[in-house]
Amino acid sequence: MTEQKKVRVRFAPSPTGPLHMGGVRTALYNYLFAKKNNGDFLLRIEDTDQTRYVKGAEDYIRESLEWCGIIPNEGQGYGGDNGPYRQSERKDLGYYKEHAEQLVEKDLAYYAFDTPEELDKMREDLKKAGVAAPQYNAITRSRMQNSLTLPADEVKERIERGDDYVIRIKIPRNEEIKFEDIIRGWVMVHSSNLDDKVLFKSDGMPTYHLANIVDDHMMGITHVIRGEEWLPSAPLHVLLYRYLGWEEEMPRFAHLPLLLKPDGNGKLSKRDGDRLGFPVFPLEWKDPSSGEISSGYREKGYFPEAFVNILSLLGWNPGTNQEIFSMQELIESFSLERVGKAGAKYDPEKARWFNQQYLKEKSDEELARVILEREDCPEYVKKKGADYLAKVCGMMKERAVFLKDIPIDGAYLYNAPEDLDEKTLKKKWKEDTAQIMEDWLDELQQIDEADYKASNIEEKLKAFMEEKGLGFGQILPPFRLLLSGLGMGPSLFEIAELLGKEECIERMKTNLKKIASIA
Ligand code: GLU
Repeated sequence: MTEQKKVRVRFAPSPTGPLHMGGVRTALYNYLFAKKNNGDFLLRIEDTDQTRYVKGAEDYIRESLEWCGIIPNEGQGYGGDNGPYRQSERKDLGYYKEHAEQLVEKDLAYYAFDTPEELDKMREDLKKAGVAAPQYNAITRSRMQNSLTLPADEVKERIERGDDYVIRIKIPRNEEIKFEDIIRGWVMVHSSNLDDKVLFKSDGMPTYHLANIVDDHMMGITHVIRGEEWLPSAPLHVLLYRYLGWEEEMPRFAHLPLLLKPDGNGKLSKRDGDRLGFPVFPLEWKDPSSGEISSGYREKGYFPEAFVNILSLLGWNPGTNQEIFSMQELIESFSLERVGKAGAKYDPEKARWFNQQYLKEKSDEELARVILEREDCPEYVKKKGADYLAKVCGMMKERAVFLKDIPIDGAYLYNAPEDLDEKTLKKKWKEDTAQIMEDWLDELQQIDEADYKASNIEEKLKAFMEEKGLGFGQILPPFRLLLSGLGMGPSLFEIAELLGKEECIERMKTNLKKIASIA
């Protein structure tokens, strides 16, 4: 019986800027797959393209993953026996050069000395001859400056002399390259559609393709789970596994569907920033060169559990009606077979709904604790303390979407309203309302301070309505308006109890006067 290899997957971002929410989804699916299969989840930093390196991006990536609870058990910043986990450091150890040269020796790759001008000229000539997408490939390579066309001693001399060169893969001329993608099934590409990609440059840097394959192999990766944008590169990667003699141990591929804009019109990209009215980054990001700030889900007030839940369903379908999943439930239910091919549309409204569901489930005390810890917690909230805030949360959480809404939407539970909602005033304040409210005020005053509780106030109100022959519509909206300045909100009796007798009386008197003065 063959022994099943331990599942090992990796998230391999390039530190070229903040992690996009699509990147977090890729990390999440890798993590879920690893945990589900008792495997390892690695973080590898692919920083071979030094020209695109952005300071702070690597820390941002780790902070984002940790905020989401997607914690690698091996990799850059997390230790392990397969390091280093940063490609720039692996390059210094010679890993990539060694393999690139091996390929040249086996006649599966070659040195190319063409200058940028020579490459441009080749492309222009081909365009003139009617080739739509000119490539350095099995046909054109025979006309260029490389170790296949130049005499061996000249090649040697040029390298020794320090001429700039690259190592290109020798793509076979007429071959069908195929592999089975877990999500997409069989993918087949004819080699005539591939070009002789650069694998290694004379500055000692490998390109993404070579470094990615060498590292996946050396790190024992069993499954490559990544975004659809890498699908066109996969045939080249399959070929590299074969050329390097690692075909037997080649990981299985799963290319995730794209994340689409809410209207389904194209990929949700980093550049969308806040343009569409919602963040595309997990955490706020300040661009180190322009200073520009892009908002993050964390700072907007999303719970990390909600954010993870949202991402989990953008591509994966549990096959049931369940929508709310904890990380543990996701681990238990996740499978790559249930990830679809079609792009997943991001729905910002639904995202808000998810956050609301998580908010509702939290205890009042926990909500209060977190609000008090937030930087944007208003002074008036801090002053009244945690117990009062917990009560406010209990009343407001059914309607709030974000934690930070609670102290703002519930500001009248702290401070008397300065303005009265005009619409309610116009619609609900009738000729006899002022008198009704005056009478109701007298009733309230008769309640003992110690008995000033929601249930007693409600009872009193019902008795008062009966006695006066009034309907709810004649008393509740104006009463709410006097206490909160608003037309809507949580239970009025609870509001009254929380504010306390003295404050209620005070607000009613002040606002009755205000209304009388504008009438
Ligand atoms: N460094 C690549 C990226 O930034 C990794 C792609 C892959 O997972 O192979 O997305």
